[in-house]
Amino acid sequence: MHSDVSIKDPGEGARARVPFSHLSFRQKSKRLLAGGLFHSRLLRLLRRLEGSHILRFVPGSYVPQFRNFMGSKFGILCYHRVGIEGMPYHSRLEPRIFEAQMNYLKKHYRLVPLSRMCRELEDGCVVPPTIAITFDDGYRDLYTHAFPVLRRLQIPATIYLIGECMHSGTPPWYDRIFSAVHHAPGPSLEVKLDTARTFKIDSPADRSSTAWELVCYLRSLDDTDRREWCINFERFNSVCEDELQSRMLDWPQIREMSQAGISFGAHTWTHPSVSRLSSEALDRELGETKAFLEAALSAEVADFAYPFGKPEDCSSLAERALSKFQYRSAVTTSEGINSSGTNVLKLRRLQIAEDKSLPLFALAIAQMFFESVEDASVQTRDGVEVREHMTKSVRGLS
Ligand SMILES: [Zn+2]
Repeated sequence: MHSDVSIKDPGEGARARVPFSHLSFRQKSKRLLAGGLFHSRLLRLLRRLEGSHILRFVPGSYVPQFRNFMGSKFGILCYHRVGIEGMPYHSRLEPRIFEAQMNYLKKHYRLVPLSRMCRELEDGCVVPPTIAITFDDGYRDLYTHAFPVLRRLQIPATIYLIGECMHSGTPPWYDRIFSAVHHAPGPSLEVKLDTARTFKIDSPADRSSTAWELVCYLRSLDDTDRREWCINFERFNSVCEDELQSRMLDWPQIREMSQAGISFGAHTWTHPSVSRLSSEALDRELGETKAFLEAALSAEVADFAYPFGKPEDCSSLAERALSKFQYRSAVTTSEGINSSGTNVLKLRRLQIAEDKSLPLFALAIAQMFFESVEDASVQTRDGVEVREHMTKSVRGLS
């Protein structure tokens, strides 16, 4: 039994700890179910079926049904930081938990580099349930905490770098928001969003949720407006520059990891929501970042991760720019598996909750592989309707 759980934020990754006793009945049930599965033979049986079956809820039934699945299933895991110290404040993934997760994956799944997964997706070959590991943003604790584990277990991974952070050595803009809100005098913070707002910042949890609300608001703005808002915000709210130092990977660390088989992708220049960008800005964020990283790495940078990565953060204009700059793949944070026919410029991932429970992690992986894949009509932010493979969630307890 674990005493706390992490909750996903509406953006990329903030989490707040909640005691077990404060969880809803549904959340408690999920934890108990995961524990029961993990310590029984049922999980082993599920793993045996997850490559060849999907689970579907049918109308009028509360019990999901197994259906046969022909083809291959590819899961991509999305991590951000590994470690709980320093900025940004929301990281709660302890290195020992990460190591336990990697040991579990190594023991039970086929793990491949993203490049190989892309090849297999396009070739349509039939392989067992397969996983690729990815990390967004390029924080330094990936070198100190994640890399030793990946190297020891010989697990391939891709890290997506933010061009401007690599160029300047400083963290992305949203960490500055976190820092400013964290150090604001309190007990309240007045901010102009669409209207004037007053946020309560009595506790660290209040400050975190306030910062995330600001970041979510800023994601919705045009990129130029977002930059102006940030400059104006920092006029009245100081950022602690010291705590923002040495938070990102540096080039010697990246070269060492690259030599050990870790691959690197692009995550734009400034971490905007790319659906808010003009085509000129897309050229800079996607094209110039790729050229900058390739020159620094002396290697091709073929993979891309959409900042924030939700459907509203993607656009067909961005997809065209990805093709223009010859990216091989692009990952989102839309949850689900990928299979033959999935658009490789809109790959789905499973965001890993920074949870202490290995049973919950194992259950999340199994759930991912039991999701069904079907065609659906999707409206992108710029109004283009496309037919896409969609995963249908069976996460009834999520
Ligand atoms: Zn990111």
